[in-house]
Amino acid sequence: MTEKVTFPQIGNYNVVFEFIFKEGMGLEYITPPKMTDKTLEIGAKYSPESVCAPFKFMLGNYIEAIEKGANILVSVGGLCRLGYYGELHEQILRDLGYDIRFVNFAQTRLKKPSSWYEKFKALNPEMSLVKIGEILPTAIKMVEYIDIVDDFLRQNLGFEVEEGSFQALYDEYLEEMGKIKNRKDLKAFQKDYLKAFRKIPIDKPKNPLKVAIVGEYYTIMQPFSNHFLEKWLAQRGIEVSRWMNFTNTLIHRPEKEVKKHIKNYAAYDMGATSMYTIGAALECAKKGVDGMIHIKSAGCMPEIDTMSVLQNISKDYEIPILYISFDSQTSDLGLETRLEAFYDMIMMRKKKIL
Ligand code: SF4
Repeated sequence: MTEKVTFPQIGNYNVVFEFIFKEGMGLEYITPPKMTDKTLEIGAKYSPESVCAPFKFMLGNYIEAIEKGANILVSVGGLCRLGYYGELHEQILRDLGYDIRFVNFAQTRLKKPSSWYEKFKALNPEMSLVKIGEILPTAIKMVEYIDIVDDFLRQNLGFEVEEGSFQALYDEYLEEMGKIKNRKDLKAFQKDYLKAFRKIPIDKPKNPLKVAIVGEYYTIMQPFSNHFLEKWLAQRGIEVSRWMNFTNTLIHRPEKEVKKHIKNYAAYDMGATSMYTIGAALECAKKGVDGMIHIKSAGCMPEIDTMSVLQNISKDYEIPILYISFDSQTSDLGLETRLEAFYDMIMMRKKKIL
């Protein structure tokens, strides 16, 4: 049986996962199919009902990727109950009768290098750690470059003159990045594409409406799980900002700075990426956005805890915040009504202030 590995989708980083598994570990990578209602339907069907939505999306991803041929599934831990999800996913998939190898990095220990070594070897016993060490800097750069482009798009997508021009170039960008094998080529590639993105004609007012999105790690980074919120805002001519991404949370990891920055609002870490949510909200409030949208999965305790803190930030800086919880039942219609009302409110508020 050919070994084909997969990892659940998050953000636009699939191209990086593929690079790591293929170039670093010598494994064929199966990209989970684009998320659809069916992904969620499958995931929700076999998940405990009260579990948070990321669990259901990931399970749907695994099953669809298995149907595409994947037989090695990779899971990682997290700073919340996500750390237990791998074991539960594996058990559910085995109960469903899937013949898979499940490699769960949540079972590794940071201070125990041998636990990491075991997991890497479980992926591919022939794999060389030297090879992984060689490709890792390129993979990290890929992540940083994708995040730079994503930030640029959030700022400008809402103002493109020709509808769809950013998305068309972005699709090409990700596809072409998949062909890159080394850091030198990657650097030149990024430079060329940034130039091309900047050349796309836009019609942007001097002082557009600005909205920041803060909230739960998975929901914020997986467009399907937040009903393509960033796109909705862009279509209304809004400049969007979002701090949460792989570069900031996994590469830069400014934990100490964030704790210091938010000390007047939160003295204790409330788990998962709650401190980052508060830090990002405070930063945006200081910069003076017109509104914020806090998003999370229903039942996400760390993010529920942040909401009262965000309320204090909202009061102190007089910035409206819309709170949205997503689950497998969230309807587009209900969401649209709330978003339209929020949009009208921040628009009227801005006109009044100016
Ligand atoms: S942060 Fe919240 S939604 Fe995300 S996995 Fe943890 S509990 Fe679930």
